[in-house]
Amino acid sequence: MVKIDLVFAPFWSPVMPPHGIASLSSFLKENGHEVRAIDFNVELPSVYKLFKKMLSMPIDLEATVESLSYPFLISLFYDEKDWKNVLKELIKDRSLFRGNYLEIYVDWLLNNKLKRTVEDKIESWVNNILDNDPDIVGFSTLCTNFPLSLLIAKEIKKERNNILTILGGPHVFWFDNTVMRYLPWIDVVVKGEGELALLKTVNEFKNNFCHKRRVISEPYLKDINNLPPPDFSDFDFGKYIYGAIPLSTSRGCVYNCNFCHEKRFWRTFRSKKPKTIVEEIGIDLERYALDSFLFCDSLINGNKKLLEELCELIISKELDIYWSAHASIRNMDEELLRKMKKSGCRCLLYGIESGSQRILNKMHKGITLKEIEKTLKLTMDIGIWPLTYWLIGFPGETVFDIKKTKNFIIKNKDNIGSAVFHSFILSKETPIYNNPQEYGISIKRNSKLDKIYHFLWSHNYIIKDGIPRKEVLKHAINCRKEINFNFCISMYFPLNRELYPLFCQERLSRKLKDQWYDAPNFNAILNRFL
Ligand code: SF4
Repeated sequence: MVKIDLVFAPFWSPVMPPHGIASLSSFLKENGHEVRAIDFNVELPSVYKLFKKMLSMPIDLEATVESLSYPFLISLFYDEKDWKNVLKELIKDRSLFRGNYLEIYVDWLLNNKLKRTVEDKIESWVNNILDNDPDIVGFSTLCTNFPLSLLIAKEIKKERNNILTILGGPHVFWFDNTVMRYLPWIDVVVKGEGELALLKTVNEFKNNFCHKRRVISEPYLKDINNLPPPDFSDFDFGKYIYGAIPLSTSRGCVYNCNFCHEKRFWRTFRSKKPKTIVEEIGIDLERYALDSFLFCDSLINGNKKLLEELCELIISKELDIYWSAHASIRNMDEELLRKMKKSGCRCLLYGIESGSQRILNKMHKGITLKEIEKTLKLTMDIGIWPLTYWLIGFPGETVFDIKKTKNFIIKNKDNIGSAVFHSFILSKETPIYNNPQEYGISIKRNSKLDKIYHFLWSHNYIIKDGIPRKEVLKHAINCRKEINFNFCISMYFPLNRELYPLFCQERLSRKLKDQWYDAPNFNAILNRFL
C-alpha cells in the first residue's frame, strides 16, 4: 500500500469541494492505497470582497509589477527579469485577471495582506503534508493554483527528497515538457485523464521501479460507469460557499466550438448511464446530508436521450433534489426541459457567446439566433434560471457585431436570468490557434514568454481582423454597464435549495425595479422558479 496526499492548492474560490481529487482519491482507495485529499483554499479569506474591489480598481502597471515580483514566485523561475516581463504581459492584458488571480493581485496591491497570509501559510501547508508522512504528493493544477502548487512541491522536495511529487490536472496538460525542463523538483507529470496514469505511477512506485522526471499519459477510460463515486469525506462541506455536491455525469464534449480546448483535453465524449448517476446521487444524499448538486460536466446534454432517461429515473425514484448544470443551448426542447425541471433542475448555464449570427457561424456554434431565442423563452417559462455567457472580441468581430449582441440581449431581456461577459482569449491548441490565418490572427510562436512560462493562453498574438486586443476588455466592460441588467456574476449563483428562492426573489426584484417586468406579473414569474 502506498500513502498518497492529493493536494488542491490556492488559489481557487472555495465554492465546493474539488471534484477532481475527490474522484482520484476514491479510485486509488478502491485500488488498495491510502489517500488523503486536502484543499488548502478553505483556509484563505473569502474572495468576494476582493472580487468586488477588482471591478473598480485602476491599474498601475509598474507598481503592480513590483508588487507581484515577490521573491518566492521569482525563485521558481530562473530569471527575475524574465518573470517581471511575464507579469507585465499579464497585467497589460487585464482580461487575464479573472477569478482568483485577481484575489491575489488585488490584495497584494491594496494591503499586502495576502502576501503575508500566504507566506505564513506555506510553512503550515508543507508541515501539514510532511506530518502525514506520505510517499507521494500529487497536485491538481488549474491556471490559478499553478504557482502555489509548484511552490509547495518545491518546499516538500527540499525537506524530504524521497517523496515523489506529481503534477496533474488541466493546466499542466499544456506544458508538460516545460515543467520537465525547468522544474527539477517535479518528478512526474500526469498528462490528461488522471485515473489510469496515476494508478500506474503509484503501483510502479510501490514496486520500486518508478522512473522519475517523466511525463505519463495512459489511454483514457472507455467506460466511466465503473468509477467509484468521488470520496468527499476529507472535506467539510460547511466550509464551502455553495453547499452543493459536485457530480460528474460525463466527460468531454460533442461539439466543436473553435475557441474551446475542452475536446483536446478529454478527447472523446463519454457518458455515465442514468442508473449509475442515480446510484451515485443516492450515495451522496446519504453520506453528506445535502440535497443540491452541480453537474460539473462540460455540458449536461451531450447525449439528449440519456439526459431524458436520467430525469425520468430521478422522477420515478422520487429523489427530492435541486440541481444545476452547464448545458448547450442546442439540442433542447420543451418536453426535455419540463422533465429537467421536474427532476430538480433549477439553473442552466448556457454558453451563447454572441447575438450576431455571423459571429456564431465563425465560432462554429452550429445554432441560429432564432433557435436560441426559442430555447431561452422555454427555459424561463418553465422556471429554470437561464444563466448566459457571452464572449466579446472574437477574431473578426466588429463594434457592429457587439451592438447586435447587446440588442439581442435587450430584446430577450425577459428570458435571460443572468448574463456574464467574458473577453476573448486565444487558448492554445484550439482550432483557431492552429489555423490563425483563417481567423485573421497573427501569432508569434515560440516567444521567450512562452518558453519561460507556457501559459494555456497565448500572449503573443495580434488580431488583424476585428477589434484590436487592447480594446476587447473595454468592450466587455461596456457591455456589462450598458446592459445594466444587474446581472449576477456566475460565482455568486447559489446552488443550494435554501438560498435559491431568495436569490430568485432578489434578482427578479432588481429586474422589476429596472422595469424589466410589470409589477402585477412579478409574483407569477417568481413562483415559476420555486
Ligand atoms: S459546447 Fe462548450 S464545451 Fe463544447 S466545444 Fe462548445 S464551448 Fe467547448
